[in-house]
Amino acid sequence: MPDSYRRPKFKCTGCGKCCTGNPRTRYIELTTGEAETIRRTLNIGRSWFYRRYLVMLDGQARGIRIGENKRCVFLDKKKACRIYHTRPQQCRSYPFWPEILSSRSAWKNESRRCEGIGLGNLIAKKYRQNL
Ligand code: SF4
Ligand code: SF4
Repeated sequence: MPDSYRRPKFKCTGCGKCCTGNPRTRYIELTTGEAETIRRTLNIGRSWFYRRYLVMLDGQARGIRIGENKRCVFLDKKKACRIYHTRPQQCRSYPFWPEILSSRSAWKNESRRCEGIGLGNLIAKKYRQNL
């Protein structure tokens, strides 16, 4: 049973489900600056990086691609993030997104996907954006 969405407890188990198979997700949001940081970390050319890893809309990089297997293209076979130290804010702040914290039912609903919700210690607001 998940704890209160107002006093949320959370501990990531590394199950990888937040990086896979959400039918509502077409890509993982990121900023142009975050894209450039990731590209430099991988040390690959911009053109190839954008084509291989990003979703482009209106000529702008909008997000990290979800592969045909419904997994983020940076999730490896051991369910580890290949760009963990430079992953975008969208990933760092999960599951503390406004829409998930907006109600008890939204928090409870998300706990079906994220088994870390309700585990561990209460996470203070100031730590929720950079776990
Ligand atoms: S970038 Fe990393 S943390 Fe974010 S969805 Fe992809 S594998 Fe998961
Ligand atoms: S779904 Fe939750 S517990 Fe699993 S890897 Fe993602 S954040 Fe961690």
